[in-house]
Amino acid sequence: MQYWKEEPIRLLIDEDELRQMVENLGSEISRDYRNKVSVESPLLLVGILKGAVVFMADLARSMAVPTALDFMAVSSYGASTTSSGIVRILHDLDTSIEGRHVIIVEDIVDTGLTLRYLRDHLASRGPRSLKVCVLLDKAERREVPVCVDYCGRQIPDEFVVGYGLDYAERYRDLPYLGVVTEME
Ligand code: 5GP
Repeated sequence: MQYWKEEPIRLLIDEDELRQMVENLGSEISRDYRNKVSVESPLLLVGILKGAVVFMADLARSMAVPTALDFMAVSSYGASTTSSGIVRILHDLDTSIEGRHVIIVEDIVDTGLTLRYLRDHLASRGPRSLKVCVLLDKAERREVPVCVDYCGRQIPDEFVVGYGLDYAERYRDLPYLGVVTEME
């Protein structure tokens, strides 16, 4: 039996629905970039570790245009930096984004602080275009405005896990999205 059936997790979005959400995003993005990218000059997907890994793997495979993949890791801001929204880069991109079409791929946008920082920071590196794609959006929690170009689904203010998202490094391996019903 799958271990998570014993865990305090309530189903929020099942595997079929996730697949549909990602396919829709892949089609929408492919339509927008059809005449802009090529095998020689692919669309660069910048995944934010670790939460976006599972989503990005599926998104890249649902795309009808050529993509290249790179990753960044950022620290979550502590209490002292919440108001400024300063985020520390723990692992930077391997490639230059100058002159390239780039999409930041993030698991979830909550307050918006992480994405606002990343968007501003990457924009300063001179990409040809820069957009943001998130799987999930907790719009009611937003503290700073941030432009989200592609969004899988808006969700209520609940702590979600699975499909790459964790609770204390647990549950990233769940194939569906759930809500933790008992926090330790
Ligand atoms: P923001 O900067 O928008 O407040 O937060 C974005 C980050 O917070 C996400 O990339 C994610 O790591 C984390 N986060 C926000 N809400 C959730 C949630 O419901 N579940 C999990 N696992 N992480 C979340």
